[in-house]
Amino acid sequence: MTAKTPSEVIVVGAGIAGAAAAFFLADWGVKVTLIERHHPAAGPTGRSSALLHAFYYMPELSRLAARGIDILRQIPALTGASAGFNRIGNLWGTGPGAAQEFRDVIARVRSEGCEIETLEASELPRHAPDFNWDGIEVAAWEPTCGYADSYSATNALVKGARDRGAAVRLNTPVRRLVTAGGRIQGVEIEDGERIGADIVIAALGVWSKPVLAEIGVHLPLTVERHPHVLVEAAGIARQIMPVCWVDDVLMNYGRPDGEDVLILASWSGGGTGLRGADSERGNLVGDPDDYNEGTESDEAVATVKSFLSRIPRIEPLGIRPGYSGLYDMSPDDNPIIDAVSGVDGLFVICGSSGHGFKMGAAVGEAAARMAVDEKPAVLAPFAMGRFPPTG
Ligand SMILES: Cc1cc2nc3c(=O)[nH]c(=O)nc-3n(C[C@H](O)[C@H](O)[C@H](O)COP(=O)(O)OP(=O)(O)OC[C@H]3O[C@@H](n4cnc5c(N)ncnc54)[C@H](O)[C@@H]3O)c2cc1C
Repeated sequence: MTAKTPSEVIVVGAGIAGAAAAFFLADWGVKVTLIERHHPAAGPTGRSSALLHAFYYMPELSRLAARGIDILRQIPALTGASAGFNRIGNLWGTGPGAAQEFRDVIARVRSEGCEIETLEASELPRHAPDFNWDGIEVAAWEPTCGYADSYSATNALVKGARDRGAAVRLNTPVRRLVTAGGRIQGVEIEDGERIGADIVIAALGVWSKPVLAEIGVHLPLTVERHPHVLVEAAGIARQIMPVCWVDDVLMNYGRPDGEDVLILASWSGGGTGLRGADSERGNLVGDPDDYNEGTESDEAVATVKSFLSRIPRIEPLGIRPGYSGLYDMSPDDNPIIDAVSGVDGLFVICGSSGHGFKMGAAVGEAAARMAVDEKPAVLAPFAMGRFPPTG
């Protein structure tokens, strides 16, 4: 693709979305600088479970997820580095209440070219023989999905961007966005240096709200802490959980992390694009730089207990120290990917709401296209204007 007008673009934030935006801009021949306050994947991207699936109720989320996963698959060819893509398949089960809706969504996602099938209850034991399938009527099975390594994928995209001519400034916190006369002018970094640009893409995740508020743009975001529980399963992790597993009945999910560890978590707090409007929004964090990054033992016990009826075999296993990460939640659990009205040349990617890794590379690509060319149709539902102004 060719940019309509040659521009100098700054991308702030090297999570999966910002890294991908910089990668694609550099690939298209646009002059781009990627600025990250620490290192690639230093924020929530690096704490992601990184489960991959195109199964979403909203078609645009499916499309972004499918494209994001496709980019992750291509990362070795595009960058010469690994994305740590583990193709073990993703299985998402539900009970009788949502079974027909699942079948319909699976048919729609398949009709768009994704490898996804409906598995009825009788077909499930061959995918995870140690599971007790009580309560599950049907599942979405995506055999070519699984999980990636979020650090590897993000670093690979940054490498690819650099190899294509992007300037990459790590350990460089942006102090503020610089605007004048209703236009973005660039950014000011912590030592006071100003870097000019006529386009800035702010891919700041949980840090979006404070940075944008400084220039009078009030984003309707909240930040939630989500713990990960690590279960010691030396040599048997893949036997116990051969696939990535999302449980719509028990509201939890898990995956093996290599051969020796299981990662278990709850998603009742959100993050799938399926949470109901009346669901509880707990574990709110005020300052994303000051939160409990570990996992408390009561959280670990509660999470393991929530799995016992499904996977009795984990009962005697030990618990390793876990870790927590942050979700940047929008009011409807879907991302905000848009031009900022009133500040020409400024674009935001935020509000990924705990499910933005799989689609992050596609979101970065689409946002980059929006910034230098035209807004892709797939971004229509993610406009900032769908929420009433705050602040
Ligand atoms: C525990 C957990 C589990 C998850 N599991 C999944 C999953 O299974 N599947 C899935 O699809 N998604 C999952 N997610 C969600 C996914 O990880 C996020 O949606 C996604 O990684 C967000 O990426 P991002 O690039 O938008 O933002 P971030 O990763 O938040 O990146 C923002 C970057 O901006 C940088 N930055 C901040 N302030 C500044 C500044 N002033 N100057 C310069 N740089 C700055 C930060 O250091 C950071 O690197 C999970 C998230 C968590 C926390």
